[in-house]
Amino acid sequence: MSSAEQLASAKFPTRWGNFEIYGFRRSLGADAPPEEAVALVMGDIHGRPPLVRIHSQCLTGDVFGSLRCDCRQQLELALSMISGEGRGILIYEQQEGRGIGLIAKLQAYQLQDAGLDTVEANERLGFEADQRGFALPAEILKALAVPTVRLLSNNPQKVSALERAAIKVIERVPCEVEPSAHAADYLRTKKEKLGHLFTTESSS
Ligand SMILES: [Zn+2]
Repeated sequence: MSSAEQLASAKFPTRWGNFEIYGFRRSLGADAPPEEAVALVMGDIHGRPPLVRIHSQCLTGDVFGSLRCDCRQQLELALSMISGEGRGILIYEQQEGRGIGLIAKLQAYQLQDAGLDTVEANERLGFEADQRGFALPAEILKALAVPTVRLLSNNPQKVSALERAAIKVIERVPCEVEPSAHAADYLRTKKEKLGHLFTTESSS
């Protein structure tokens, strides 16, 4: 596995406080374009294991505030929780629509409008329910010299994927948001078909 190369770092003030922004790239060999991701880092991330959130790009949610999913709410919650602790890392990966790509995600929405759930729609389009891999975030954490994390996630598969990539997860911290009515079906499918863990009835 090739390692992630840090190509940029800069000061990054946000609504949630002052971060550093890092740009990372990882080569996948001659036949594939490189993977890129950014990491927002706040405070001292060494010493005690920091809070870490791995967020997959969602143009429709993150930028347009779509209520079809809870991505923007989770992104804002993660940044506010990191800010609340004064330290932590948010890794933002360019894996639109659980890795299927932007246009395919819109096609999946079209199928959902016709009655399929999010998993059935992805499978109809020929994709796995979740195409994401977590090799790049693991390599970024290694490049930042952070071998042990407290992972902000409702997804146990993210915990096991990171551990397979030799990052130790000493705690899973829930990242639960109040869903909109539009996202209720989507979140139910996440829980029932993708194994996401929610504690509150409102997130079920
Ligand atoms: Zn989304």
